[in-house]
Amino acid sequence: MAVTLTDDLNLIYDALFAAFGHQHWWPARTPFEAMIGAILAQNVSWTNAARAVRNLEDAGMLDPHLLAAADTAAIACLIVPSRYYNQKAERIREFSAVYVAEFGADPAAMAAVETGELRERLLALRGFGKETADTILLYACEKPVFVVDAYTRRIFSRYGLLPEGASYDQTQQFFAENLESDAELFNDYHAQIVRLGSTICKKSPLCDRCPIREVRGPLRCAVGRT
Ligand code: SF4
Repeated sequence: MAVTLTDDLNLIYDALFAAFGHQHWWPARTPFEAMIGAILAQNVSWTNAARAVRNLEDAGMLDPHLLAAADTAAIACLIVPSRYYNQKAERIREFSAVYVAEFGADPAAMAAVETGELRERLLALRGFGKETADTILLYACEKPVFVVDAYTRRIFSRYGLLPEGASYDQTQQFFAENLESDAELFNDYHAQIVRLGSTICKKSPLCDRCPIREVRGPLRCAVGRT
């Protein structure tokens, strides 16, 4: 039987899983924390975003009603580690207001909205790009939406499975068309990609340590090929 792209993507995932284990994302205790974490993680490492999340929690502010009513400056001073804190404070306040007004601060009510409609609503918020919206859809609402980031594009274009410079939509479509539509799988697949991209397939890739350099005979990375 002919080997398909689905087989290839599943084998790559299996190799990543075997190397790194399950990543247990999103590292948040509640869906709302995952939503706020997705905003705080824009353009910074998760380590920085996590420090800002903890500051909000320690101040007793990780609550949608409190954040919706808070002064932007009061939020900003708690999220300094996430950088761009004034902008992000605005986004957090505005998102929290919408979450309270339109979804009753209930993650189940938000998750009950049809995926495309909810994505459009999130994308209409100021400062919400596709990656942030999709992160919330996948990790807070458990919708089967594949999250794309710079690591995804870098790794899969180096691998030779995506063209260099593939767009967000093109990359997302590639995974959506070739993987089973499964939120659990999408959750851990993206997490594995972040793990590989941040530790091994960096700007200067450490191909000698890469668990997917050669997955099986013909399935091997175009860049890491020996
Ligand atoms: S073999 Fe090298 S270039 Fe290819 S995915 Fe692994 S680290 Fe990246």
